[in-house]
Amino acid sequence: MAQHFLLSAKSRQLSLIQIAKLSDSEAHSLLCQIRWGSEYMVVCPKCGVRHQAYRLKTRNQWRCKHCKYQFSITSKTIFSNRKLNLQTYLFAIALFVNAVKGISSMQLSRDLNVTYKTAFILSHKIRESLQAQKELFPLSNEVHIDATYVHSAPRKKNKKSDRLDRRLKENANPYKRAIFVMRERFLTSETKRDSNKVGAKHTFTFPILSENGSVIKKLTKEYIAPNTTVCADENPAYDDLLINYDLKRVNHQKEYCSDEGITNNLAESFFARFKRCYYGQVHKMSNKYLDNYANEIAYREDMRRENNLTIFKDIIDKCLSTDDETDWSGYWQGNHRTQERLVV
Ligand SMILES: [Zn+2]
Repeated sequence: MAQHFLLSAKSRQLSLIQIAKLSDSEAHSLLCQIRWGSEYMVVCPKCGVRHQAYRLKTRNQWRCKHCKYQFSITSKTIFSNRKLNLQTYLFAIALFVNAVKGISSMQLSRDLNVTYKTAFILSHKIRESLQAQKELFPLSNEVHIDATYVHSAPRKKNKKSDRLDRRLKENANPYKRAIFVMRERFLTSETKRDSNKVGAKHTFTFPILSENGSVIKKLTKEYIAPNTTVCADENPAYDDLLINYDLKRVNHQKEYCSDEGITNNLAESFFARFKRCYYGQVHKMSNKYLDNYANEIAYREDMRRENNLTIFKDIIDKCLSTDDETDWSGYWQGNHRTQERLVV
């Protein structure tokens, strides 16, 4: 049997020790390479002109020859107005990459020896960068769909007599949400050409209130191309998809894989990682940021067969191309996201 990708040397290309040993100038030039492909031909974040800007060596900054804007490697990115040194950001991203089931802010705070508040913002800035780059285009070929519930019920009361029957609508937890997932499978021809291209190819996630027909119809119409093969479970919310799609069902009350080989296991494997992140790592996910957590796991799933150096560079690139005008600038000064990102 062929060796699993994660056991191969190819999957390990990133050394935390090397990242920790980077000097100031090495860390700076690594970021320049990733952001602009060079330390000399830089792009002014204000006017967008690529040129050999005037270098202010002592400050490690540049001044644009066209608009006179003075900028650093992190200006107008998610890390603008940074307080930590560049190595700390690189080390945080490396830890984030290697923690394949997610990393909690408490752990990041211990690993980086920074406060919980700093680690919380830093990890959410990384998550937000993955979000901003989310490419949404119609999925096609074979797509597996399903939803999982989070915050189904608060902790049970001590006395059985005080406990509510959460199955009743009037006792339902108002914080209960569902994560709806759609995953496209690699084509057999793609797998034949490259054995790493197997299973799920692209993953989209959406926080919803519950698995109901109208929201499912709205999302599938927008994100799944007509006539695609859609694999779903027996939930009646998916019945209407029969009109626009080649709908295949598996009845989870009876089996995980039907006699015809129909499953929605790509969706289930997303949930496996998502739940492990929830129960085993972060322990608490605010509904306000549920979209970010779900998208983080979608990213991790889609990149699962890439080596860790590729993922490291990709995340840095995403952080440096996400602008600073997100919910995460000035968070502790009171600038919070006001609404949940919820599809209704
Ligand atoms: Zn400029």
